[in-house]
Amino acid sequence: MEFLPLFHNLRGSRVLVVGGGEIALRKSRLIADAGAVLRVVAPEIEAQLSELVVQSGGEMILRGYSECDLDGCVLIIAATDDEPLNAQVSRDARLRCVPVNVVDAPALCTVIFPAIVDRSPLVIAVSSGGDAPVLARLIRAKLETWIPSSYGQLAGLAARFRNQVKGLFPNVQQRRAFWEEVFQGAIADRQLAGQGAEAERMLIAKIAGEPPPETGEVYLVGAGPGDPDLLTFRALRLMQQADVVLYDRLVAPTILDLCRRDAERVYVGKRRAEHAVPQEQINQQLVALAKQGKRVVRLKGGDPFIFGRGGEEIEELAAHGIPFQVVPGITAASGCAAYAGIPLTHRDHAQSVRFITGHLKNGTTDLPWSDLVAPAQTLVFYMGLIGLPVICEQLIRHGRSADTPAALVEQGTTVNQRVFTGTLANLPQLVAEHDVHAPTLVIIGEVVKLREKLAWFEGAQATL
Ligand code: SAH
Repeated sequence: MEFLPLFHNLRGSRVLVVGGGEIALRKSRLIADAGAVLRVVAPEIEAQLSELVVQSGGEMILRGYSECDLDGCVLIIAATDDEPLNAQVSRDARLRCVPVNVVDAPALCTVIFPAIVDRSPLVIAVSSGGDAPVLARLIRAKLETWIPSSYGQLAGLAARFRNQVKGLFPNVQQRRAFWEEVFQGAIADRQLAGQGAEAERMLIAKIAGEPPPETGEVYLVGAGPGDPDLLTFRALRLMQQADVVLYDRLVAPTILDLCRRDAERVYVGKRRAEHAVPQEQINQQLVALAKQGKRVVRLKGGDPFIFGRGGEEIEELAAHGIPFQVVPGITAASGCAAYAGIPLTHRDHAQSVRFITGHLKNGTTDLPWSDLVAPAQTLVFYMGLIGLPVICEQLIRHGRSADTPAALVEQGTTVNQRVFTGTLANLPQLVAEHDVHAPTLVIIGEVVKLREKLAWFEGAQATL
Protein backbone atom coordinates (compact mmCIF):
# COMPACT_ATOMS: atom_id res chain seq x y z
CA MET A 1 0.00 0.00 0.00
CA GLU A 2 1.58 3.24 -1.17
CA PHE A 3 -0.57 5.55 1.00
CA LEU A 4 -2.36 4.83 4.26
CA PRO A 5 -5.90 6.25 4.26
CA LEU A 6 -6.60 8.18 7.46
CA PHE A 7 -9.44 10.58 8.21
CA HIS A 8 -8.09 13.84 9.46
CA ASN A 9 -9.84 15.81 12.21
CA LEU A 10 -9.20 19.44 11.19
CA ARG A 11 -11.95 21.09 13.20
CA GLY A 12 -10.63 24.39 14.53
CA SER A 13 -7.09 23.76 13.27
CA ARG A 14 -5.21 26.10 10.99
CA VAL A 15 -4.42 25.00 7.44
CA LEU A 16 -2.11 26.90 5.10
CA VAL A 17 -3.05 27.22 1.45
CA VAL A 18 -0.40 28.77 -0.80
CA GLY A 19 -2.09 30.14 -3.92
CA GLY A 20 -5.11 32.31 -4.58
CA GLY A 21 -6.69 30.93 -7.75
CA GLU A 22 -9.16 28.30 -8.89
CA ILE A 23 -7.20 25.25 -7.72
CA ALA A 24 -6.58 26.78 -4.32
CA LEU A 25 -10.30 27.47 -4.10
CA ARG A 26 -11.23 23.86 -4.83
CA LYS A 27 -8.95 22.50 -2.10
CA SER A 28 -9.95 25.24 0.32
CA ARG A 29 -13.61 24.29 -0.02
CA LEU A 30 -12.90 20.76 1.17
CA ILE A 31 -10.75 22.03 4.00
CA ALA A 32 -13.38 24.52 5.10
CA ASP A 33 -16.04 21.79 4.91
CA ALA A 34 -13.99 19.85 7.42
CA GLY A 35 -14.17 22.80 9.80
CA ALA A 36 -10.59 24.04 9.50
CA VAL A 37 -9.46 27.66 9.76
CA LEU A 38 -7.89 28.78 6.47
CA ARG A 39 -4.73 30.81 6.06
CA VAL A 40 -4.34 31.72 2.40
CA VAL A 41 -1.14 33.29 1.12
CA ALA A 42 -0.92 34.79 -2.37
CA PRO A 43 -0.25 38.19 -3.96
CA GLU A 44 -3.83 38.05 -5.25
CA ILE A 45 -6.79 36.07 -3.96
CA GLU A 46 -9.91 35.54 -6.00
CA ALA A 47 -13.24 36.72 -4.62
CA GLN A 48 -14.87 33.37 -3.86
CA LEU A 49 -11.79 32.20 -2.04
CA SER A 50 -11.68 35.38 0.04
CA GLU A 51 -15.28 34.80 1.04
CA LEU A 52 -14.49 31.26 2.09
CA VAL A 53 -11.54 32.40 4.18
CA VAL A 54 -13.73 34.90 5.99
CA GLN A 55 -16.41 32.27 6.59
CA SER A 56 -13.85 29.89 8.05
CA GLY A 57 -12.70 32.60 10.46
CA GLY A 58 -9.29 32.56 8.83
CA GLU A 59 -6.85 35.07 7.39
CA MET A 60 -5.56 36.24 4.01
CA ILE A 61 -1.96 37.25 3.53
CA LEU A 62 -1.61 39.28 0.35
CA ARG A 63 2.03 38.78 -0.60
CA GLY A 64 4.38 36.07 -1.79
CA TYR A 65 4.96 32.95 0.33
CA SER A 66 7.39 33.05 3.22
CA GLU A 67 8.53 30.14 5.37
CA CYS A 68 7.04 31.68 8.51
CA ASP A 69 3.54 31.23 7.02
CA LEU A 70 3.78 27.62 8.14
CA ASP A 71 3.78 28.59 11.80
CA GLY A 72 0.92 27.01 13.68
CA CYS A 73 -0.44 25.10 10.69
CA VAL A 74 -1.28 21.39 10.87
CA LEU A 75 -1.56 20.86 7.11
CA ILE A 76 0.00 22.64 4.14
CA ILE A 77 -1.40 22.85 0.61
CA ALA A 78 0.64 24.25 -2.27
CA ALA A 79 -1.75 25.17 -5.06
CA THR A 80 0.13 27.62 -7.28
CA ASP A 81 1.18 27.20 -10.92
CA ASP A 82 4.74 28.09 -9.97
CA GLU A 83 6.54 24.72 -9.78
CA PRO A 84 9.71 25.87 -7.98
CA LEU A 85 7.56 27.63 -5.39
CA ASN A 86 5.41 24.51 -4.89
CA ALA A 87 8.62 22.47 -4.45
CA GLN A 88 9.92 24.91 -1.88
CA VAL A 89 6.69 24.83 0.14
CA SER A 90 6.87 21.04 0.06
CA ARG A 91 10.49 21.05 1.28
CA ASP A 92 9.78 23.51 4.09
CA ALA A 93 6.77 21.53 5.29
CA ARG A 94 8.66 18.24 5.25
CA LEU A 95 11.52 19.77 7.24
CA ARG A 96 9.00 20.67 9.91
CA CYS A 97 7.32 17.25 9.65
CA VAL A 98 3.99 18.82 8.77
CA PRO A 99 1.83 16.95 6.21
CA VAL A 100 1.92 18.62 2.80
CA ASN A 101 -0.05 18.31 -0.38
CA VAL A 102 1.11 19.80 -3.67
CA VAL A 103 -1.62 19.86 -6.25
CA ASP A 104 -0.87 17.62 -9.24
CA ALA A 105 2.61 16.67 -8.03
CA PRO A 106 2.35 13.38 -6.11
CA ALA A 107 6.13 13.16 -5.70
CA LEU A 108 6.10 16.35 -3.61
CA CYS A 109 3.25 15.20 -1.36
CA THR A 110 3.27 13.45 1.96
CA VAL A 111 -0.54 13.36 1.88
CA ILE A 112 -2.89 13.23 -1.10
CA PHE A 113 -6.55 14.06 -1.55
CA PRO A 114 -8.82 11.16 -2.38
CA ALA A 115 -11.97 11.35 -4.51
CA ILE A 116 -14.69 11.81 -1.90
CA VAL A 117 -18.26 10.61 -1.59
CA ASP A 118 -19.72 12.73 1.19
CA ARG A 119 -22.67 11.28 3.04
CA SER A 120 -21.58 12.81 6.31
CA PRO A 121 -21.06 11.40 8.81
CA LEU A 122 -20.41 8.59 6.34
CA VAL A 123 -17.50 9.53 4.09
CA ILE A 124 -15.96 7.34 1.41
CA ALA A 125 -12.52 8.13 0.07
CA VAL A 126 -11.11 6.61 -3.10
CA SER A 127 -7.50 6.93 -4.11
CA SER A 128 -5.26 5.62 -6.85
CA GLY A 129 -2.20 6.88 -5.01
CA GLY A 130 -2.01 9.74 -7.49
CA ASP A 131 -1.38 7.35 -10.41
CA ALA A 132 -4.81 7.47 -12.02
CA PRO A 133 -6.95 10.21 -10.47
CA VAL A 134 -9.47 10.02 -13.31
CA LEU A 135 -10.08 6.36 -12.53
CA ALA A 136 -10.58 7.20 -8.86
CA ARG A 137 -13.10 9.85 -9.88
CA LEU A 138 -14.99 7.41 -12.08
CA ILE A 139 -15.20 4.95 -9.21
CA ARG A 140 -16.43 7.75 -7.05
CA ALA A 141 -19.16 8.50 -9.60
CA LYS A 142 -20.26 4.86 -9.47
CA LEU A 143 -20.41 5.00 -5.69
CA GLU A 144 -22.37 8.25 -5.83
CA THR A 145 -25.09 6.56 -7.87
CA TRP A 146 -25.05 3.40 -5.83
CA ILE A 147 -25.22 4.88 -2.35
CA PRO A 148 -28.45 6.74 -1.65
CA SER A 149 -27.98 10.35 -0.70
CA SER A 150 -29.88 9.74 2.54
CA TYR A 151 -27.26 7.30 3.80
CA GLY A 152 -25.79 10.10 5.85
CA GLN A 153 -29.07 10.43 7.74
CA LEU A 154 -29.02 6.70 8.38
CA ALA A 155 -25.55 6.99 9.86
CA GLY A 156 -26.76 9.98 11.86
CA LEU A 157 -29.62 7.92 13.28
CA ALA A 158 -27.17 5.21 14.32
CA ALA A 159 -24.90 7.81 15.90
CA ARG A 160 -27.72 9.15 18.07
CA PHE A 161 -28.39 5.70 19.56
CA ARG A 162 -24.88 4.32 19.51
CA ASN A 163 -24.18 4.68 23.21
CA GLN A 164 -27.56 3.40 24.24
CA VAL A 165 -27.10 0.26 22.16
CA LYS A 166 -23.59 -0.15 23.50
CA GLY A 167 -24.99 -0.09 27.03
CA LEU A 168 -27.63 -2.63 26.06
CA PHE A 169 -25.22 -5.15 24.54
CA PRO A 170 -21.80 -5.20 26.16
CA ASN A 171 -20.99 -8.12 23.85
CA VAL A 172 -19.55 -6.99 20.51
CA GLN A 173 -21.11 -9.84 18.52
CA GLN A 174 -24.59 -9.06 19.79
CA ARG A 175 -24.08 -5.42 19.05
CA ARG A 176 -22.95 -6.13 15.53
CA ALA A 177 -25.95 -8.38 14.91
CA PHE A 178 -28.25 -5.65 16.21
CA TRP A 179 -26.86 -3.03 13.85
CA GLU A 180 -26.81 -5.41 10.90
CA GLU A 181 -30.52 -5.95 11.37
CA VAL A 182 -31.08 -2.22 11.58
CA PHE A 183 -29.07 -1.40 8.46
CA GLN A 184 -30.47 -4.23 6.36
CA GLY A 185 -34.06 -4.14 7.44
CA ALA A 186 -37.20 -2.09 7.65
CA ILE A 187 -35.66 0.65 9.82
CA ALA A 188 -33.08 1.52 7.17
CA ASP A 189 -35.78 1.34 4.50
CA ARG A 190 -37.82 3.94 6.34
CA GLN A 191 -34.89 6.27 6.82
CA LEU A 192 -33.82 5.96 3.19
CA ALA A 193 -37.38 6.65 2.09
CA GLY A 194 -37.17 9.98 3.91
CA GLN A 195 -39.35 8.90 6.83
CA GLY A 196 -36.82 9.66 9.54
CA ALA A 197 -39.29 10.06 12.40
CA GLU A 198 -40.79 6.65 11.74
CA ALA A 199 -37.33 5.07 11.46
CA GLU A 200 -36.42 6.54 14.82
CA ARG A 201 -39.63 5.29 16.40
CA MET A 202 -38.93 1.79 15.11
CA LEU A 203 -35.36 1.89 16.37
CA ILE A 204 -36.52 2.94 19.83
CA ALA A 205 -39.02 0.06 19.80
CA LYS A 206 -36.27 -2.34 18.79
CA ILE A 207 -34.01 -1.11 21.58
CA ALA A 208 -36.89 -1.58 24.02
CA GLY A 209 -37.01 -5.21 22.89
CA GLU A 210 -40.40 -5.02 21.23
CA PRO A 211 -40.79 -7.75 18.60
CA PRO A 212 -40.68 -6.36 15.05
CA PRO A 213 -44.05 -6.02 13.37
CA GLU A 214 -45.04 -9.12 11.44
CA THR A 215 -46.12 -7.18 8.39
CA GLY A 216 -43.83 -6.62 5.49
CA GLU A 217 -44.04 -3.69 3.17
CA VAL A 218 -45.17 -2.94 -0.35
CA TYR A 219 -43.22 -0.82 -2.79
CA LEU A 220 -45.16 0.49 -5.74
CA VAL A 221 -42.34 1.01 -8.16
CA GLY A 222 -42.51 2.86 -11.46
CA ALA A 223 -40.30 0.92 -13.85
CA GLY A 224 -40.35 3.47 -16.64
CA PRO A 225 -41.38 2.85 -20.23
CA GLY A 226 -38.93 0.10 -21.15
CA ASP A 227 -35.30 1.15 -21.31
CA PRO A 228 -33.72 -0.14 -18.07
CA ASP A 229 -31.47 2.95 -18.01
CA LEU A 230 -34.54 4.99 -17.18
CA LEU A 231 -35.06 3.38 -13.78
CA THR A 232 -34.49 5.58 -10.75
CA PHE A 233 -31.83 4.72 -8.20
CA ARG A 234 -34.50 4.09 -5.61
CA ALA A 235 -36.44 1.76 -7.90
CA LEU A 236 -33.33 -0.30 -8.49
CA ARG A 237 -32.45 -0.45 -4.82
CA LEU A 238 -35.91 -1.64 -3.79
CA MET A 239 -36.01 -4.15 -6.65
CA GLN A 240 -32.81 -5.62 -5.31
CA GLN A 241 -34.27 -6.02 -1.83
CA ALA A 242 -37.57 -7.58 -2.81
CA ASP A 243 -38.76 -10.97 -1.59
CA VAL A 244 -41.58 -11.03 -4.15
CA VAL A 245 -42.11 -9.08 -7.37
CA LEU A 246 -45.52 -8.65 -8.95
CA TYR A 247 -45.25 -7.46 -12.52
CA ASP A 248 -47.32 -7.18 -15.63
CA ARG A 249 -46.93 -7.13 -19.37
CA LEU A 250 -45.67 -3.56 -19.57
CA VAL A 251 -42.52 -4.39 -17.63
CA ALA A 252 -39.71 -5.41 -19.96
CA PRO A 253 -37.81 -8.64 -19.18
CA THR A 254 -34.54 -6.68 -19.10
CA ILE A 255 -35.96 -4.67 -16.22
CA LEU A 256 -37.30 -7.72 -14.42
CA ASP A 257 -33.82 -9.21 -14.58
CA LEU A 258 -32.58 -6.41 -12.35
CA CYS A 259 -34.70 -7.65 -9.45
CA ARG A 260 -33.04 -9.69 -6.72
CA ARG A 261 -32.14 -13.01 -8.25
CA ASP A 262 -33.91 -15.19 -5.72
CA ALA A 263 -37.02 -13.01 -5.47
CA GLU A 264 -40.24 -14.83 -6.29
CA ARG A 265 -41.77 -13.47 -9.50
CA VAL A 266 -45.52 -13.31 -9.92
CA TYR A 267 -47.05 -12.38 -13.26
CA VAL A 268 -50.27 -10.47 -12.87
CA GLY A 269 -50.35 -9.48 -16.50
CA LYS A 270 -53.13 -7.36 -17.71
CA ARG A 271 -54.15 -6.83 -21.26
CA ARG A 272 -56.66 -4.25 -22.25
CA ALA A 273 -60.18 -5.58 -21.59
CA GLU A 274 -58.92 -9.03 -20.63
CA HIS A 275 -57.44 -8.61 -17.20
CA ALA A 276 -55.42 -11.77 -16.58
CA VAL A 277 -55.73 -11.10 -12.86
CA PRO A 278 -58.54 -8.76 -11.83
CA GLN A 279 -57.35 -5.61 -10.09
CA GLU A 280 -59.16 -6.51 -6.84
CA GLN A 281 -57.29 -9.77 -6.73
CA ILE A 282 -53.94 -8.00 -7.21
CA ASN A 283 -54.82 -5.65 -4.38
CA GLN A 284 -55.67 -8.57 -2.11
CA GLN A 285 -52.53 -10.44 -3.12
CA LEU A 286 -50.38 -7.45 -2.16
CA VAL A 287 -52.03 -7.29 1.24
CA ALA A 288 -51.70 -11.05 1.83
CA LEU A 289 -48.01 -11.15 0.89
CA ALA A 290 -47.19 -8.17 3.08
CA LYS A 291 -49.05 -9.81 5.97
CA GLN A 292 -46.72 -12.78 5.61
CA GLY A 293 -43.91 -10.35 6.42
CA LYS A 294 -42.61 -10.11 2.84
CA ARG A 295 -41.12 -7.14 1.07
CA VAL A 296 -43.23 -6.89 -2.01
CA VAL A 297 -42.35 -4.91 -5.10
CA ARG A 298 -45.28 -4.09 -7.31
CA LEU A 299 -43.49 -3.19 -10.51
CA LYS A 300 -45.46 -0.97 -12.84
CA GLY A 301 -44.78 0.26 -16.33
CA GLY A 302 -44.06 3.98 -16.48
CA ASP A 303 -45.24 5.88 -13.43
CA PRO A 304 -47.53 4.16 -10.90
CA PHE A 305 -49.76 7.19 -10.56
CA ILE A 306 -50.32 7.80 -14.25
CA PHE A 307 -52.97 5.43 -15.58
CA GLY A 308 -51.36 2.78 -13.44
CA ARG A 309 -54.13 2.16 -10.92
CA GLY A 310 -51.54 2.79 -8.24
CA GLY A 311 -54.12 4.83 -6.36
CA GLU A 312 -56.41 1.83 -6.00
CA GLU A 313 -53.62 -0.41 -4.81
CA ILE A 314 -52.46 1.91 -2.07
CA GLU A 315 -56.04 2.51 -0.92
CA GLU A 316 -56.31 -1.18 -0.19
CA LEU A 317 -52.92 -1.22 1.53
CA ALA A 318 -53.80 1.77 3.66
CA ALA A 319 -57.12 0.16 4.62
CA HIS A 320 -55.18 -2.82 6.00
CA GLY A 321 -52.51 -0.72 7.68
CA ILE A 322 -49.74 -2.09 5.45
CA PRO A 323 -46.76 0.24 5.12
CA PHE A 324 -45.98 1.20 1.56
CA GLN A 325 -43.79 3.45 -0.55
CA VAL A 326 -44.47 4.81 -4.01
CA VAL A 327 -41.51 5.30 -6.30
CA PRO A 328 -42.23 7.52 -9.29
CA GLY A 329 -41.14 6.40 -12.71
CA ILE A 330 -40.71 7.99 -16.10
CA THR A 331 -44.10 7.91 -17.70
CA ALA A 332 -44.56 6.71 -21.29
CA ALA A 333 -45.26 10.25 -22.48
CA SER A 334 -41.91 11.59 -21.26
CA GLY A 335 -39.96 8.53 -22.36
CA CYS A 336 -41.54 8.15 -25.81
CA ALA A 337 -41.41 11.87 -26.54
CA ALA A 338 -37.72 12.08 -25.67
CA TYR A 339 -36.77 8.98 -27.62
CA ALA A 340 -38.88 9.98 -30.63
CA GLY A 341 -37.59 13.55 -30.79
CA ILE A 342 -40.92 15.21 -30.06
CA PRO A 343 -40.78 17.92 -27.38
CA LEU A 344 -44.16 17.80 -25.64
CA THR A 345 -44.27 21.56 -25.15
CA HIS A 346 -42.63 24.31 -27.15
CA ARG A 347 -42.84 28.05 -26.77
CA ASP A 348 -44.07 28.47 -30.34
CA HIS A 349 -46.38 25.48 -30.64
CA ALA A 350 -47.77 24.16 -27.39
CA GLN A 351 -48.10 25.82 -24.02
CA SER A 352 -49.64 22.80 -22.36
CA VAL A 353 -49.77 19.05 -22.64
CA ARG A 354 -52.55 16.69 -21.64
CA PHE A 355 -52.23 13.02 -20.76
CA ILE A 356 -55.50 11.32 -21.66
CA THR A 357 -56.67 7.74 -21.48
CA GLY A 358 -58.19 6.49 -24.70
CA HIS A 359 -59.95 3.76 -22.81
CA LEU A 360 -62.54 4.70 -20.25
CA LYS A 361 -63.80 2.58 -17.39
CA ASN A 362 -67.11 1.88 -19.11
CA GLY A 363 -65.35 0.76 -22.31
CA THR A 364 -66.31 3.85 -24.33
CA THR A 365 -64.19 6.69 -25.62
CA ASP A 366 -66.38 9.48 -24.39
CA LEU A 367 -64.12 12.45 -23.71
CA PRO A 368 -64.60 16.21 -23.26
CA TRP A 369 -63.86 16.83 -26.94
CA SER A 370 -64.44 20.56 -26.99
CA ASP A 371 -61.71 20.99 -24.34
CA LEU A 372 -59.33 18.83 -26.30
CA VAL A 373 -59.47 20.89 -29.48
CA ALA A 374 -58.22 24.08 -27.83
CA PRO A 375 -55.23 25.39 -29.79
CA ALA A 376 -51.60 25.27 -28.70
CA GLN A 377 -51.86 22.12 -26.63
CA THR A 378 -50.34 18.70 -27.14
CA LEU A 379 -52.51 15.67 -26.56
CA VAL A 380 -50.98 12.39 -25.45
CA PHE A 381 -53.26 9.39 -25.52
CA TYR A 382 -52.42 6.34 -23.46
CA MET A 383 -54.22 3.11 -24.42
CA GLY A 384 -55.40 4.95 -27.50
CA LEU A 385 -55.03 2.33 -30.25
CA ILE A 386 -58.46 0.71 -30.14
CA GLY A 387 -60.32 3.97 -29.87
CA LEU A 388 -58.06 5.76 -32.36
CA PRO A 389 -60.58 6.08 -35.23
CA VAL A 390 -63.10 7.60 -32.80
CA ILE A 391 -60.51 9.89 -31.24
CA CYS A 392 -59.36 11.29 -34.59
CA GLU A 393 -62.87 11.64 -35.94
CA GLN A 394 -64.17 13.43 -32.84
CA LEU A 395 -61.23 15.83 -32.68
CA ILE A 396 -61.78 16.78 -36.31
CA ARG A 397 -65.53 17.06 -35.82
CA HIS A 398 -65.03 19.39 -32.84
CA GLY A 399 -62.77 21.70 -34.80
CA ARG A 400 -59.17 20.48 -34.70
CA SER A 401 -57.75 20.59 -38.21
CA ALA A 402 -57.51 17.30 -40.08
CA ASP A 403 -53.93 18.31 -40.94
CA THR A 404 -52.88 18.42 -37.29
CA PRO A 405 -49.61 16.48 -37.08
CA ALA A 406 -49.74 13.26 -35.06
CA ALA A 407 -47.45 10.39 -34.15
CA LEU A 408 -47.63 6.79 -33.03
CA VAL A 409 -44.81 5.55 -30.83
CA GLU A 410 -44.83 1.78 -30.47
CA GLN A 411 -42.74 0.17 -27.71
CA GLY A 412 -41.15 3.52 -27.03
CA THR A 413 -37.62 3.70 -25.53
CA THR A 414 -37.00 0.01 -26.19
CA VAL A 415 -34.79 -1.43 -28.93
CA ASN A 416 -38.01 -2.27 -30.78
CA GLN A 417 -39.29 1.30 -30.82
CA ARG A 418 -41.13 2.29 -34.02
CA VAL A 419 -42.42 5.77 -34.76
CA PHE A 420 -44.95 6.66 -37.46
CA THR A 421 -46.01 10.20 -38.16
CA GLY A 422 -48.99 11.50 -40.09
CA THR A 423 -52.01 13.67 -39.47
CA LEU A 424 -55.29 13.33 -37.61
CA ALA A 425 -56.82 12.36 -40.94
CA ASN A 426 -54.60 9.37 -41.71
CA LEU A 427 -53.44 8.14 -38.28
CA PRO A 428 -55.87 5.17 -38.04
CA GLN A 429 -54.78 4.11 -41.50
CA LEU A 430 -51.12 4.11 -40.39
CA VAL A 431 -52.00 1.64 -37.64
CA ALA A 432 -53.39 -0.82 -40.14
CA GLU A 433 -50.67 -0.25 -42.72
CA HIS A 434 -47.81 -0.87 -40.32
CA ASP A 435 -49.53 -3.40 -38.11
CA VAL A 436 -49.00 -1.29 -35.01
CA HIS A 437 -49.63 -2.96 -31.64
CA ALA A 438 -49.81 -2.05 -27.97
CA PRO A 439 -48.09 -0.60 -26.12
CA THR A 440 -48.36 2.43 -28.34
CA LEU A 441 -48.58 6.05 -27.41
CA VAL A 442 -50.43 8.59 -29.55
CA ILE A 443 -49.09 12.14 -29.65
CA ILE A 444 -51.16 14.82 -31.35
CA GLY A 445 -50.18 18.43 -31.97
CA GLU A 446 -47.93 20.82 -33.87
CA VAL A 447 -44.91 19.67 -31.83
CA VAL A 448 -44.87 16.41 -33.81
CA LYS A 449 -43.52 18.40 -36.77
CA LEU A 450 -40.41 19.24 -34.75
CA ARG A 451 -39.26 15.66 -35.13
CA GLU A 452 -38.59 16.33 -38.82
CA LYS A 453 -37.03 19.67 -38.09
CA LEU A 454 -34.68 18.03 -35.64
CA ALA A 455 -33.89 15.48 -38.37
CA TRP A 456 -34.56 12.80 -35.83
CA PHE A 457 -33.91 9.20 -36.71
CA GLU A 458 -34.26 5.95 -34.83
CA GLY A 459 -31.31 5.35 -32.62
CA ALA A 460 -30.53 9.06 -32.47
CA GLN A 461 -30.90 8.88 -28.71
CA ALA A 462 -28.19 6.25 -28.54
CA THR A 463 -25.74 8.20 -30.68
CA LEU A 464 -26.23 11.59 -29.04
N1 SAH B 1 -48.35 3.87 -15.93
C1 SAH B 1 -47.97 3.85 -17.31
C2 SAH B 1 -49.14 3.81 -18.25
C3 SAH B 1 -49.98 2.58 -18.18
S1 SAH B 1 -51.31 2.60 -19.32
C4 SAH B 1 -47.07 5.05 -17.60
O1 SAH B 1 -46.95 5.95 -16.77
O2 SAH B 1 -46.46 5.07 -18.68
C5 SAH B 1 -50.67 1.66 -20.64
C6 SAH B 1 -50.44 2.52 -21.85
O3 SAH B 1 -49.24 3.28 -21.69
C7 SAH B 1 -50.23 1.75 -23.13
O4 SAH B 1 -51.45 1.38 -23.70
C8 SAH B 1 -49.50 2.76 -23.98
O5 SAH B 1 -50.38 3.69 -24.52
C9 SAH B 1 -48.65 3.48 -22.95
N2 SAH B 1 -47.28 2.94 -22.90
C10 SAH B 1 -46.67 2.40 -21.84
N3 SAH B 1 -45.41 2.06 -22.14
C11 SAH B 1 -45.23 2.39 -23.43
C12 SAH B 1 -44.13 2.30 -24.34
N4 SAH B 1 -42.96 1.78 -23.97
N5 SAH B 1 -44.29 2.75 -25.60
C13 SAH B 1 -45.48 3.28 -25.98
N6 SAH B 1 -46.52 3.40 -25.17
C14 SAH B 1 -46.42 2.96 -23.92
